[in-house]
Formats: sequence, C-alpha cells, structure tokens
Amino acid sequence: MTMQTTLTDSVEEAAALLNAGGVVAFPTETVYGLGAAICHPAALLQLFRAKGRPADNPLIVHIYRIEQVAEVASAVSVQAATLIEHFFPGPLTLVLKKNRSVPYSVTAGLETVGVRCPANPIAREFLRLACCPVAAPSANRSGLPSATSWEAVMEDLDGKIDCLLRGTPSAIGLESTIVDCSGGRAVLLRAGAITLEQLRAVVPEITTIAVTEREERPKCPGLKYPHYAPRAAILLSAAVEKIDIKESSAAYIGISEQPKGVALFKVCSSLEEYGRELFGFFRLCDARNISVIYCELPSDEGLGRAIRDRLMRAAGLA
Ligand code: AMP
Ligand code: MG
Repeated sequence: MTMQTTLTDSVEEAAALLNAGGVVAFPTETVYGLGAAICHPAALLQLFRAKGRPADNPLIVHIYRIEQVAEVASAVSVQAATLIEHFFPGPLTLVLKKNRSVPYSVTAGLETVGVRCPANPIAREFLRLACCPVAAPSANRSGLPSATSWEAVMEDLDGKIDCLLRGTPSAIGLESTIVDCSGGRAVLLRAGAITLEQLRAVVPEITTIAVTEREERPKCPGLKYPHYAPRAAILLSAAVEKIDIKESSAAYIGISEQPKGVALFKVCSSLEEYGRELFGFFRLCDARNISVIYCELPSDEGLGRAIRDRLMRAAGLA
C-alpha cells in the first residue's frame, strides 16, 4: 500500500499528523526515528508494517522531559535514577519495568520498556507537542543501515509513512546506548555514544552482555536480527596497511589512510566522525554499486566499542 508522505520543516504540522494517528519520521541526535504515539494502536501497527519490522522486536519509547519517565515506567532503581541524572536528555536508552500505559505491541510482549529522552531540540519540540509518549525505532527498512539524514529516510520509507519532519544530519549517527536497569544489576545491552567508561564512572557495577550471556539471562531481543547491512560485502581489518584490494569496485572507510586501489573512500579524522559517517557511507556505496567495503576495525574502547559492534553486525559476525 502506498500513501502520500508529507515532507515538512514544520514541527507543528508533523506533530498534528502524529496526534491524528499517523506515522511520522523525525530527526534525533542518534539516528532518525520513526514515531507513532503509544496511545494510537493502529499507528503502532502501521509503523511495524512500514519498516517491515518483526513484531517481536521491541520499540524504544521517547519522552521530552525527564519527569515523563514515570508515565511509562513502574519502577526506577537507584542505578537508573543515577543514569537519568547524568545522561538524560541524551543518546541513552534505559530498559525499565513498564507500567500499564505502555501497550505490549510496543514492548513485544515484554514487561519492560526502553525509554529515551533525546537531546536534539527539534525532537524535543516534536515530543512536547505529541499527545502522549512516542514509540520510535530507527527510520529505515528493517535490516538496512539506520537513516542518519532525511534523504536516507525518504529512500527507504517514501510512500509508506504519513510524514517526514526534515532536520539536519544526525550529530552522532549511531543508535543509542541501551542499559537494562529492570533487573538486579545494570547491563549494557547495546554500545553507543554514551560509552561504557562514561557509564561506569557513575555506576561502576554495570556489566556487559557477554557476562550476561554466560549467566544465561535473556538477551536484548532485537539484537538477534541482522542489522545495519548494506548490499555490498563488508570486510573488517584492524591493520589497514595489510589490506590487498582485488576488486575493481571496492570502497574503504576508517581513520587510517585509504589502501591503494579503492574506488571510493572516507578517511575520518576521529572516532566521532567515523560513527557519524558510517551508515551514510554504507548507503552511498550501495548507490554506487560498490561490491566490497573495507572497514577499519577500531579497538574496543570508548566510542570504538559502538562502531565495532555495528561493523561486526554489518559483516554478519555478531
Ligand atoms: P531500534 O530503535 O531500531 O534501534 O531498536 C530498538 C532496540 O532497542 C530493539 O531492537 C531492542 O534491542 C532494544 N529494546 C527496546 N525495548 C527493549 C526492552 N524492553 N528490553 C530489551 N531491549 C529493548
Ligand atoms: Mg533499528
């Protein structure tokens, strides 16, 4: 089914379409989100359909001010309160016990809910005008790289959603850090721009999912699905000087200088730039019919952990 997608710069127009039960994409500092009001069940259904998202992959609920955590969560642990105090608003999602206002279609049947308060001013204004909290996964077709510009959202979802609120390219370009605070001990479920080191500076006992898996606790539901993958094959290397290009249509992205023989490359001056450019570069490579993308694998520290995680998933190794 195709529909008319309204492309707008007006936050008021976008919020009005959302409040009328529409599905609306909007900019955030992580990646573009695809929003539906949690009080509109039909919109939530349409959102899953537009993305081609499996129903057992939960959505993150977005709020515009910290006090709204109480509108969606039934309990906030001391650890969660500390993380909220330090990192909300910002690129951090907390998994908390849900309350009755959050439908199971949002949480994929779970008793917990992912909650985030974005810092992007357009996102906050949009969420302020929304009639209730807004469930929003990344605004891309399921399995493809997340959309970090409004053009990328149009590429994937034009004719499938009611509206796209246009903004600038995403400042971070990687999905939010996710920490599960619903159980006894806080667990990092997904790495992001708020790094493990930053989290541990305020809550030292946070563990990682590798430890959790060993203890056989349930893992982050959506993480079983393939993510972030362009059509081109992804090859990872921690030693760029050793890369030997055989293909005529190869590309490269990383921080070190590009290997000889690549048709397209992006040399980033920092991990921040690498994170911001990664998904856009994947999409550019697909548009240029690149067959192989060589990616420099950063070390597992700071923002490197999040970039590494997305690269491993794109390469089908995680
Ligand atoms: P996306 O917004 O596309 O990055 O996807 C949101 C991701 O957040 C899901 O794939 C899950 O991995 C995670 N998530 C959302 N809600 C929960 C929850 N209640 N428990 C665990 N993980 C969650
Ligand atoms: Mg996603």
